[in-house]
Amino acid sequence: MITPVDILGVNGSIAKRLENYELRKEQLAMSEAVNRAFIKKQHLLVEAGTGVGKSFAYLIPAILQTAGNQKDDSSTNKSSANNVTINNTPIKSVVPSNKSSTDCNVKYDIPFDINYSPDSFDLLPDLSDQIDNEVSYQFDRQVSKTDFPRVIISTHTISLQEQIMEKDIPFLRSVLPFEFTAVLVKGRSNYVCLRRFYAVSQKLNTLWDDFQQREFEHLHDWIKKTEDGSKSSLIPEPAWEIWAEICCETGNCTGKICKWNDKCFYNKTRRRIVNAQILIVNHALFFSDLMLRMQSGGILPTYNMLVFDEAHTIEQVASEHIGISVTQYQVEYNLNRLYNEHTQKGLLMNSNFSNKNNNNEIDTIGEKKKKNEYNYTTEFEELRKIVIDCLTRSDIFFGDLIDWIKQHSGGNGRVRKAGSFRNNLSEGLSKLTEHLRRIIEKLPDAGERQEFRSARDKIISIRDSIDLWVNQQIPDESVYWIEVKTTSRGKLRVSINASPIDIGPILREHLFGKIQSIVMTSATLTT
Ligand code: SF4
Repeated sequence: MITPVDILGVNGSIAKRLENYELRKEQLAMSEAVNRAFIKKQHLLVEAGTGVGKSFAYLIPAILQTAGNQKDDSSTNKSSANNVTINNTPIKSVVPSNKSSTDCNVKYDIPFDINYSPDSFDLLPDLSDQIDNEVSYQFDRQVSKTDFPRVIISTHTISLQEQIMEKDIPFLRSVLPFEFTAVLVKGRSNYVCLRRFYAVSQKLNTLWDDFQQREFEHLHDWIKKTEDGSKSSLIPEPAWEIWAEICCETGNCTGKICKWNDKCFYNKTRRRIVNAQILIVNHALFFSDLMLRMQSGGILPTYNMLVFDEAHTIEQVASEHIGISVTQYQVEYNLNRLYNEHTQKGLLMNSNFSNKNNNNEIDTIGEKKKKNEYNYTTEFEELRKIVIDCLTRSDIFFGDLIDWIKQHSGGNGRVRKAGSFRNNLSEGLSKLTEHLRRIIEKLPDAGERQEFRSARDKIISIRDSIDLWVNQQIPDESVYWIEVKTTSRGKLRVSINASPIDIGPILREHLFGKIQSIVMTSATLTT
């Protein structure tokens, strides 16, 4: 069995490749501790100063556990190596671990232990059943078929992800005597949705002004050339309001009936993710996935081992994702996406059916032409009025919050009592979603149905969050507060927020109690 010392040791693979390779005892000690934690299905905390070379120290055991000790292919043709410089900064503590490394005779500082029974990990549940839901449809059904070990590496910053993907992994590929697969996982909204792109290109003038239309025209060249369809391959990146209309969205995919399904960039990426042994993600995506898993969903495929680098930030990121946050802007944006009275744009204006009367013959995607007896004009007009009403209700609701903050100036915005605010907004949003449901059922175009369904789902989610917040009904004991910020134009922007007071029990139940081995590392870990 290959161990970290075979890679990082004085006679290891890296030493054979790099002439001036210097053994870093701290790096090797950390790597062995991580390897042991993976093998023994334990959790591990490692505080290691800058320059120890933490990423190699956990990447090597991750690769060994997922690929290296299962498949030895030493005949593989390797590319040339990059040089690696690591400062000799000591590891401060390694917890919990076995006493010391016999190979390198490194002493560990073990200040405390984590009370997790190794036995509990024998009960590691098969999460694949929980992933098969509408949100993550066909990709995750493939997940349940995978049965190889998988490690998630989660970082806080993009720069660290780039370092891992662009430097560390290529270097390790060049020195390790076996193949492994590693994929950077980005959120769905980072990829263009071809169905939405081509639907938008049919009705540019009803969506945007001349400037935005010209900007969109540039995307036609890009879409023909792009290999992965990701926003980061677009230079310069498009304005967010343009990207928002053409990106992949949760709940806005027509799945197998989409005529772009075979070419879909997101589908291709998901297939690579499902087959990868190492997945690199950021903390935000990781905790979004965890939230979905808690509700029987999921973005990521199943995994057995997890490394949090920059782990000092996970409490904050977890709190943000496990709590509630609704901004006034979010409410207005989602309503204006349906109908903007000022610009006369939005889904309720640019729908192919906005001005259709009854008995029209309709073209549908993937379906035969059929007669549709429904007066769209009247329904769309009614919906536009409801949107305007909701915007007024939103002004009143958030206006009341601003008044409350002014009356409680000097406070921290914390709201201690349930029902402290009148909430007519939720009632308006409920009426809107009910009318949307009726029109969605009647729309014969699958693409448009999905657009409206997605818009409706977002409004339902916002309404439910507002209800939970006003009535202070989050099951875990939480803190509820209001935040007011001033925009660059001097406008006050309000948000309502709630977060569990202690996320420890939630993480224990849904994360540490379920994943067989979790390693947390950072240059600054406090206990
Ligand atoms: S399969 Fe879904 S995400 Fe892909 S292009 Fe079609 S609608 Fe968009």
